[in-house]
Amino acid sequence: MAYQTVNPYTNEVEHTYADTTPEEVEKALSLAHGLYLKWHDGSGLEERKAVITKLGTLLRERRTEMAELMTRDMGKLIGEAEGEVDLCASFCDYYVEHANEFLAPKPIYTTSGNAFILKQSLGVLMAVEPWNFPFYQIARVFIPNFIVGNPMLLKDASNCPTSAQAFADLVLEAGAPEGSLTNLFVSYDQVSEIIADPRVAGACLTGSERGGRSVATEAAKSLKKSTLELGGNDAFVVLEDADMDKLAEILPQTRLYNAGQVCTSSKRYIVPEKLVPQFVNILKDGFSKVKMGDPLDRSTTLAPLSSKKAKEKLTQQVQLAIDNGAKLEYGFEPVEDQEGQFFMPTILTGVTVENPIFDQEMFGPVAVIYPYKTEEEAIEIANNSSYGLGNTVFGTNIAHAREVASKIEAGMSWINAGWASLPELPFGGVKHSGYGRELSEIGFNEFVTNT
Ligand code: NAP
Repeated sequence: MAYQTVNPYTNEVEHTYADTTPEEVEKALSLAHGLYLKWHDGSGLEERKAVITKLGTLLRERRTEMAELMTRDMGKLIGEAEGEVDLCASFCDYYVEHANEFLAPKPIYTTSGNAFILKQSLGVLMAVEPWNFPFYQIARVFIPNFIVGNPMLLKDASNCPTSAQAFADLVLEAGAPEGSLTNLFVSYDQVSEIIADPRVAGACLTGSERGGRSVATEAAKSLKKSTLELGGNDAFVVLEDADMDKLAEILPQTRLYNAGQVCTSSKRYIVPEKLVPQFVNILKDGFSKVKMGDPLDRSTTLAPLSSKKAKEKLTQQVQLAIDNGAKLEYGFEPVEDQEGQFFMPTILTGVTVENPIFDQEMFGPVAVIYPYKTEEEAIEIANNSSYGLGNTVFGTNIAHAREVASKIEAGMSWINAGWASLPELPFGGVKHSGYGRELSEIGFNEFVTNT
């Protein structure tokens, strides 16, 4: 399996990494299990908090250096990568601040006497993470689990190995004992073997449905808990009373951030029929102003996609949509003046339920607009998806917008705002978007014993 940094802006291979050997996997497992045995009774919390505090400091000190690694791995804009480093540092602050509170035994007064719930570490975890937020995805799962006392083996995406290794190195530099987080360059088969190992207690994956099914199956075979953070086809429902000027301020970025490669970015815009022409114009206006170019150049506003493969897949999906009757409102032209994996922002209408892309996630800057006549119809379109990650409802009457949001099947909802991830809010989906939560106290509790 080739773990390589292929810079999607220059198409150059910048780094290639040797596969992790079975002996190295064994060493990582043995170290991790040793730490779990030491920490399981609750020992070492103050030391682990000190490591995470230091990790937050290192992240802030090396903000731009770390951000550049992510940009080179998968192409994101440097400013967005810096924001990602800041977010990871905020996870450090949050879990250090709340560690004692979250881990405190919870008293329960029963009819048979007093009891309490003890939160102890569950064991070694196998984490499988994607490339779209190379630091954030690791931080989201590693920081709370390290505080709990669950050591982790990491298999990150094969196209962002430099960032994954840099994050793991930073954790060691922050003072974590060896075995706390070991980054591995392993194959899918090795991941399955690790999950099956009796020293491993659980598995978590962020990624596609396909990857999720595989990791969850392996975990289930050996009766281990798993959490899955999978894809989305998030609805953005515009209500009749929406303030269109306010909408214009945020709309293009809901689809363009991270070059549209966000699990929770809005992908299906569900708009009152009479507002569709105005809505299309707002999007066109925003999309036409992007400046494609070097993602390390701070004046660039649209990054390349993460890889050649990602561009080919998205191109095929848009073509499939058009071949099956979708109307191309804007974009989908070749980007000829750039070498990198750029994809012109694209707007589609006329996608029917019969269109094969209706229930597919398009991971890139492609917006599909669905008109509706009644709110019931809007909710029906939003729920007509195998996914259920997040949604946005945009309207002036907030109470009503919340009511509409509550009728859409999803793990997360935003009112009058694009998606966001914050340490205090649980992150995760329903339906084929996965199960379990990361972040917040709810995410913190996924891999504890609750004895
Ligand atoms: P992917 O193919 O599933 O890859 C994600 C990770 O899983 C990578 O490390 C990949 O390794 C690994 N993997 C895939 N199949 C595996 C298997 N059978 N066994 C072991 N590991 C396996 O996902 P992707 O398409 O690159 O990532 C984008 C997807 O992630 C989108 O669907 C997006 O919506 C979703 N996502 C979800 C969230 C969330 O929180 N819900 C957040 C971000 C992204 P390789 O790289 O080596 O193939």
